[in-house]
Amino acid sequence: MILRNIINLTINRQERVKNVLSGRHYDRFKATVHGLNPDISVMEAGVGMKVEKTDAQWQEELTEEQYHVCRQKGTERPFSGEYVHFDGEGRYSCVCCDQILFESTTKFDAGCGWPSFWEVVDKEAVKYIEDKSLGMDRIEVVCSACNAHLGHVFPDGPEPTGLRYCMNSVALQFKKDN
Ligand SMILES: [Zn+2]
Repeated sequence: MILRNIINLTINRQERVKNVLSGRHYDRFKATVHGLNPDISVMEAGVGMKVEKTDAQWQEELTEEQYHVCRQKGTERPFSGEYVHFDGEGRYSCVCCDQILFESTTKFDAGCGWPSFWEVVDKEAVKYIEDKSLGMDRIEVVCSACNAHLGHVFPDGPEPTGLRYCMNSVALQFKKDN
């Protein structure tokens, strides 16, 4: 009985993820995200960057973990980042180029192990790219100025946007309000 419950729970979770992120639901979500920033949401990498540096420069300027996450599209381990349970009042900028990305007033606890926000500070601060890696349909979020990989956006966030920007702490830098 217990085993069956566990199996059911697992199946439910898989179905939920599948429903949210694939097929019709994914296409609809993709259209929503695309509408968030039609000017630069081109679903392509490397377009219109304000900050351009060589791979060697990034490697020199960033820590190993920052470089892995931001420039090689890595993911920090869940619940390992410094901003997961952090609730300071201020703004979060891109660790690579300093562009402001999120305000603490839009941060919420999604229980997923990564700092989550329901809105970006400015719609032009990020770009969205289709990510079909790992056998999943996801939408990657990158910094619009330097193309740093920040995380992904999902359609299960709170009102008023219903979005969950699931970010890597290591890609962000917190700045306290003065
Ligand atoms: Zn950046």
